Amino acid sequence: MEEVLSWPTLRDLIERTSRRFVTERVREVLGGLRQQIRDGEWPHPGPEISEALLETRVREAVEQALAYSLRPVINATGVILHTNLGRAPLSREALARAVEVAAQYSNLEYDLDQGRRGERDVHISRVLEALLGAPASIVVNNNAAAVMITLNTLAEGGEVIVSRGELIEIGGSFRIPEIMQKSGAVLREVGTTNRTRIGDYQKAINERTKLLLRVHPSNFRVVGFTERPSLEELVALGRKAGIPVFEDLGSGCLVSMAAQGIEDEVPVGESLKAGVDVVSFSGDKLLGGPQAGVIAGKKELVERIRRNPLFRAMRVDKLTYAVLEATLQAYWLDRPERIPALRMIRMTREEVEQRAERFVAACGQGQANPSRERERAGNPSREQPAPPALSAVEGSLSRDERAGTSALRLELVDGLSVLGGGSAPGQTLPTRLVAVRHATESATVLEKRLRGWQPPVIARVEDDTVLLDLRTVLPEQEAALTEAVRSLAAR
Ligand SMILES: *Cc1c(COP(=O)(O)O)cnc(C)c1O
Repeated sequence: MEEVLSWPTLRDLIERTSRRFVTERVREVLGGLRQQIRDGEWPHPGPEISEALLETRVREAVEQALAYSLRPVINATGVILHTNLGRAPLSREALARAVEVAAQYSNLEYDLDQGRRGERDVHISRVLEALLGAPASIVVNNNAAAVMITLNTLAEGGEVIVSRGELIEIGGSFRIPEIMQKSGAVLREVGTTNRTRIGDYQKAINERTKLLLRVHPSNFRVVGFTERPSLEELVALGRKAGIPVFEDLGSGCLVSMAAQGIEDEVPVGESLKAGVDVVSFSGDKLLGGPQAGVIAGKKELVERIRRNPLFRAMRVDKLTYAVLEATLQAYWLDRPERIPALRMIRMTREEVEQRAERFVAACGQGQANPSRERERAGNPSREQPAPPALSAVEGSLSRDERAGTSALRLELVDGLSVLGGGSAPGQTLPTRLVAVRHATESATVLEKRLRGWQPPVIARVEDDTVLLDLRTVLPEQEAALTEAVRSLAAR
């Protein structure tokens, strides 16, 4: 060990990391070699265990240990708010704010006018009041925490009335009945799975009732013979009975998405305008910001939630405030297109198609494709049927390259992108997908190779075809994706 560590060839590694770090890697490498020899896995006659071989192995071990575990991937799934892939990518403005605020001291909890302790919520409540007309608001870790602390504050020891049609489970074991139990409130179910009327709520109200809860069904939809009271009816009932109404909105949609065909998501401001006393929503779903849960509504109720000791356990860091404030400001300035998730939602099928065509051409090194040709010929009619399947990869490659890449076939097919993240169930956006097939390799193998690429590419597989949706691929990742797809042709 001492001898290996004293080799001049390893000196730069020790300087770049530390002696202890390299010592650990050398120990790993030597241990691994001993094990291989003991197990009879070291080939005889095998390569000599030379200084060069050890150096290579130690360098590899150092690189491997230095690689971050959490790293960027290319999301080619077409699921815009993919919970497993970190939900919303952040805007440039939001990131710049995070760097600026986090690298220095800030007035996170300091009142600059008074010169004394302040409250961290002011940084967000100012914008939310302007945007939503919310008299008060606070931020916690995520919307699950927001629901928990709201139920616990407003209904502990009492009953909460919820429609049976809203007793949902969201991924990651967030279930309304279980959250309710943990909050110390008693769930009082009313109505049926498909139909609940205002009279059902009314009949269930008694002296123990503390809250009327409305939950956005998020990831599922009941269709057919259904009924659910309007928010206005629920608010009117709450007022009459003197019981607050709390709505778990889930997604935190701040602008109408009706133009994109997304009708299930009602902007937060409309719930507050309808008179709902408290709402909660996620920061990293349709809002397109950081993981956070926002609680907004009547001053007196939000104040009570803030005073709950749980708030101290659920509050968020300055990074979240910086990123959330900048994200909300994009809405305030009527610039939602600054937010990557909103840009993705607003992309039309034609825009995705144009990108996909350019992408396929780039994979085949600049081959022109039929619909582009038509457009150049002065006939850009959108009414024309979709262009024939493209197999651009063979295009203008040299013979050698063609030999390597012609096994790969790319074509554009119609498909659907989805919002994901428990937003707008069944709400899809028409898209154009790049279908990737290989003459000899199965889709499963191709998908695995894309996943193993650096940066990893996450794709969909359907009907033994790898499908890439460029809607969710950030423009700055496209070159890397091109490389990854081209690499599939080899071998
Ligand atoms: C997503 C969602 C939650 C949980 O929000 P997180 O921010 O993921 O904790 C709670 N309620 C509803 C209705 C949701 O859609």
